[in-house]
Amino acid sequence: MQKNEEFVLDIVDVTADGSGVGKADGMAVFVPLTAVGDRARVKILKVKKTYAYGKLLSLVKLSKARIDNACPSFNQCGGCVYRHISYEAEKAIKENKVYENIKRIGGVDMKPQPILAGMPDRYRNKAQYPLSQEYSAGFYAFHSHRIIPCEDCLLQPQIFGEITQAVTAWAKKNDISIYNEQTHTGFLRHIYIRKAEKTNEIMVCLVINGDFLPESDSLTASLLAVCGDSLKSLQININKQDTNVILGDKCKTVYGEDYITDILCGVKIRLSPLSFYQVNHTMAEKLYEKAREYAKPDGKNIIDLYCGAGTIGLSMAKEAKSIIGVEIIPEAIEDAKHNAQINGIKNARFICADATDAASQLAKEGITADTVIVDPPRKGCSAEVIETIAHEFKPETVVYVSCDSATLARDIKIFSENGYNLVEYTPCDLFPRTSHVECVALLCRTSHSSI
Ligand code: SAH
Repeated sequence: MQKNEEFVLDIVDVTADGSGVGKADGMAVFVPLTAVGDRARVKILKVKKTYAYGKLLSLVKLSKARIDNACPSFNQCGGCVYRHISYEAEKAIKENKVYENIKRIGGVDMKPQPILAGMPDRYRNKAQYPLSQEYSAGFYAFHSHRIIPCEDCLLQPQIFGEITQAVTAWAKKNDISIYNEQTHTGFLRHIYIRKAEKTNEIMVCLVINGDFLPESDSLTASLLAVCGDSLKSLQININKQDTNVILGDKCKTVYGEDYITDILCGVKIRLSPLSFYQVNHTMAEKLYEKAREYAKPDGKNIIDLYCGAGTIGLSMAKEAKSIIGVEIIPEAIEDAKHNAQINGIKNARFICADATDAASQLAKEGITADTVIVDPPRKGCSAEVIETIAHEFKPETVVYVSCDSATLARDIKIFSENGYNLVEYTPCDLFPRTSHVECVALLCRTSHSSI
């Protein structure tokens, strides 16, 4: 097989990141934007030892799963991978992706519960837009920092597009320079927007390569014209590092409050720019309800590791005996403590520390738990955390909320080696149209476990 060679392929599978897979010359060929059931004319872009990457040139036969794509940026933008197939087909792919990982990596052949799913469009409550030198906001192309301008992303609330247009118009009018990643010069790096779904409160945060925002009054006026009373907070985030990490660790409020407040599972949640919050409110509520069903919080002592602003633990605090939340970001822990207070929750304690360190510290204090909830970032839990849970906290139940089913599966295996077996798991589509899928798993201590 040679670069630039053309083949007609049947697409027979899909990868975890949403590429179609066909076969030519005995090699697997990965072709983005194709669907199982397509017959596609493909140009080879890159040849490796056992596989190749191809580009879709045209479709000879269309998969039954195909639908018309409604987004003009879909083929270029790195955000969505499934706008060319029905949401039903996407859900089936996601269920299967989690199942395959748990079988292959986790060593457990167990079918998932039906995927929890909701509205596939305009579900996000948070966006971070990079800006082009031509003053357009957009998103990065796949595996690149090339900006694809996007005035109205179908994953975001409509008002986000209106806000980015107000900011870029203000920046252009006032000669505010746009940050250039190559030369590490220029001022305005990203437009970061958050919206509290239940209260409609909006936070706009400009990430800047500087300390102060010039012409802030005119920006505030423009944003008030777009958002009205909903604009509750305008902030700057200072990021003067030569890095592609979007946010620096310092924020300053330019207008309004330091935070906005949302309501999730009946709990008021204060959000500052740096604290983690699920981007899909509707589906996060479904996910947390499932976590609650698995955790059975009534009268239990619960440890909530990787707790962010405390959301999962606090949603169970009224029934639980006690909640201990652990989180590494100080601002998120401040939010968690504040959230407990504004909700009149007195049985929750929050610790700002690395989960591994905090778990061993709590174990030294003799703390045990009936239920441990973990909700780690994509890299999953450390083996030490799992061992501390299994041999020190010794809960009956572990509820594992995961945004990466491959690391979830790896950790399920480690849990099983330490006396905890997978009982049930439910994928949850927090990120429709993208390749990501969330999952919540119930693990229980085995009755014959020697621990
Ligand atoms: N449970 C929360 C947050 C989940 S996201 C919610 O549902 O909203 C994962 C969280 O883990 C983030 O808040 C992140 O800051 C935190 N985190 C990442 N690494 C960590 C570590 N080593 N120790 C503790 N918390 C960590």
